[in-house]
Amino acid sequence: MTLTSSLSLLKTEGARRFITQRHRMRIGAEWTGAVSGKSLDVTDPATGQLLARVPAGDEADVDRAVRAARDALEGPWSKMTGLERGKLITRFALRLEELADELAEIEAIDCGKPVGYAKQIDVGLSANTYHYMAGWASKVNGETVNVSTPGDFLAYTTREPVGVVAQIVPWNFPLVLTAYKLAPALATGCVAIIKPAEMTPLSTLRLAQIAEEVGFPPGVVNVVTGLGAKAGAALAEHPGVDKVAFTGSTGVGKMVARSAIESVKRITLELGGKSPMVVLPDADLSKAIPGLASAIFFHQGQVCTAGSRLFVHKSIYNEVLDGIAAEAGKLKVGNGLNAETTMGPLVSSLQLERVMGYVEQGRKAGADVVIGGSTIGSEGYFMQPTILANTTPDMSVVREEIFGPVLCAASFGDEDLDRVAAQANDSSFGLSASIWTNNLSAAHKLAKSIQAGSVWINMHHFFDPGMPFGGYKQSGWGREQGEEAIRAFTEVKSVVAAL
Ligand code: ADP
Repeated sequence: MTLTSSLSLLKTEGARRFITQRHRMRIGAEWTGAVSGKSLDVTDPATGQLLARVPAGDEADVDRAVRAARDALEGPWSKMTGLERGKLITRFALRLEELADELAEIEAIDCGKPVGYAKQIDVGLSANTYHYMAGWASKVNGETVNVSTPGDFLAYTTREPVGVVAQIVPWNFPLVLTAYKLAPALATGCVAIIKPAEMTPLSTLRLAQIAEEVGFPPGVVNVVTGLGAKAGAALAEHPGVDKVAFTGSTGVGKMVARSAIESVKRITLELGGKSPMVVLPDADLSKAIPGLASAIFFHQGQVCTAGSRLFVHKSIYNEVLDGIAAEAGKLKVGNGLNAETTMGPLVSSLQLERVMGYVEQGRKAGADVVIGGSTIGSEGYFMQPTILANTTPDMSVVREEIFGPVLCAASFGDEDLDRVAAQANDSSFGLSASIWTNNLSAAHKLAKSIQAGSVWINMHHFFDPGMPFGGYKQSGWGREQGEEAIRAFTEVKSVVAAL
């Protein structure tokens, strides 16, 4: 294997040892290659060089994983109390915190993230999600019900684990989006088969080692690496899988839902977004401008909730665009493992090509390129933060999810708030939105009328384990995080006794 230049930038011995080891999937009690013997290359997005190889799991491996998971579901795991499961989840969360530097480096090198953000957000939010869900493990209760049928009855509900859960995760936030699925699965007594994205499987494999180390019984946390069209599709189709928790593109999410319907699996989908940011004339621009810039440029815009459509009142439109351009100018683009980097590469050459294709479409459709619009250098997959101004609702850059550092900006006039909300809602997506104003009444009126699963006021990108997360319209089905996640990983049983 070629030693890439990024490997030499690693500071933790743990990350170096892990990345350069021979990678195996975790199925039941085994660390194993694919039945086919095939493997997949994992590329370092900062250099374009080979970083690691992982097994290319397919139907045969998924089948093994489903059997191991089912055995675990009926084994000692099912006898543990919620409190005992909660203690294990806490131990897991604490271990992630202890290993934060190493995990952050693995995530940074694999995804092309600034390592400081990876530590704070990817590892920090993941660990907090496990801590939060550990508390729920002992509180998964049913209720007694006063039935309406005359007579003497004792009626109550219980919540049971939904069973074997396939967790299909994308490449932008592997640790976090796994935590959103794995933490409630463990809290409710389910068992998991995680399928990380083919481009970024490394942190998930490390997670499975940590799960083994802290004492989760074999078969509770399985990881099958492989292509989406092979391993992912096999999981969505497998009759032994009870639920699919999917995060990824809307197109693939629809395919997963179609496959899953065959055996009427439970499904949650967290899909694409095209999140609007509405800036009213009284907004505090000293806070709004850096907030808006980070909403679109954070993680190179490869975030499902990226603030990608900006609507600004005409009286402050130029000032806001100039301000965001100035913020973009402060970004330090480079290898995520360098401490000073604040913007890394895009994840792959294909992604870079797709995003640049959108910039070209925007240009041709008449948008003004205020800043950026070009790739950077010849090594790795870097591009400039980009602002397209005077975009209109019919442009593909406004309608489709770009998943790159490209902001589409437009102004509005003195129309009423309903008209402004209608512009924000003119999208097939409805994942998140932000509103920037000091007018309390306007803020909450807009929060009510904007169709989005998360609405943020005077900020963007607020994630908390207690706040439900998911989308309206084509942004998804169901919610992750909070008590909603506990519901989504349990079946309700109604029990009635005639007394
Ligand atoms: P993104 O655009 O973020 O990569 P994708 O929807 O392509 O989103 O991928 C998200 C996850 O879905 C990845 O783990 C990928 O391997 C998986 N995936 C891709 N195609 C399929 C498929 N046909 N069936 C199931 N999973 C898939």
